[in-house]
Amino acid sequence: MDDKNGDDKSKTVYSEININGRNGDDGAYAQVTSGAQSTYNQCPAISLDGSIWPMKDTRRRKDETEREKAERLVKLSGAVKTMLECIGEDPDRKGLQKTPDCYAEAFLFFTKGYEDDLHEIVNGAVFNENHEELVITKDIEIFSLCEHHLVPFSGRMHIGYIPNQRVIGLSKLARIAEMFSRRLQVQERLTKQVATALSEVLQPKGVAVVIESSHLCMVMRGVQKTSATTITSCMQGCMRSTAKDREEFLNLLNRK
Ligand SMILES: [Zn+2]
Repeated sequence: MDDKNGDDKSKTVYSEININGRNGDDGAYAQVTSGAQSTYNQCPAISLDGSIWPMKDTRRRKDETEREKAERLVKLSGAVKTMLECIGEDPDRKGLQKTPDCYAEAFLFFTKGYEDDLHEIVNGAVFNENHEELVITKDIEIFSLCEHHLVPFSGRMHIGYIPNQRVIGLSKLARIAEMFSRRLQVQERLTKQVATALSEVLQPKGVAVVIESSHLCMVMRGVQKTSATTITSCMQGCMRSTAKDREEFLNLLNRK
């Protein structure tokens, strides 16, 4: 169901969901990760106020004033000018005069997910619904930046979940995908963060996230495998434990 289209039986249950990511007033963040230990969940996979991990500068960017925003742009633009000098270009030649400012703005857009807040995204769009069958949204386009090379990777994300009396507005799935992909990422972590965010918000019976993408750092440099696709998946709850549920999801994904 779409969140703009709530019917009479639907009821917003957002207020019942404990979505506070913080412990008390000290600014520390609750651990919200579940699942097997991996490289990434030594730290929480997500924090619900929008930062990946408790990084103070993520919060600073979200909360900054217009003046601080302007200062950030000037600083970033200066760094881009330095990059141009470092590659042997002349940042003062005509074609490049505006490039540092343009790139600084673009780079902030590419990473705008740091300013998103899961709480704000899902607010009002979680509904009580007596539906316990698989829900899938396929082919959500994603654009992200590889955190090792700051080079784009892009592709498609598929999200499925089996509700436990709670469903989320479908457009919100794409917004959650956007929130986590518009950051510096590795594909594995992005996959897991979206799955974990949905688990936290909906407490569903199961969640599955699959990403198929192409990494420019593989295509343009290094091994130069132009047609290589990287597929990652993260299954939680019954999608992980029950073969039947997982197969239903994968079969529906593969159907053209
Ligand atoms: Zn890379």
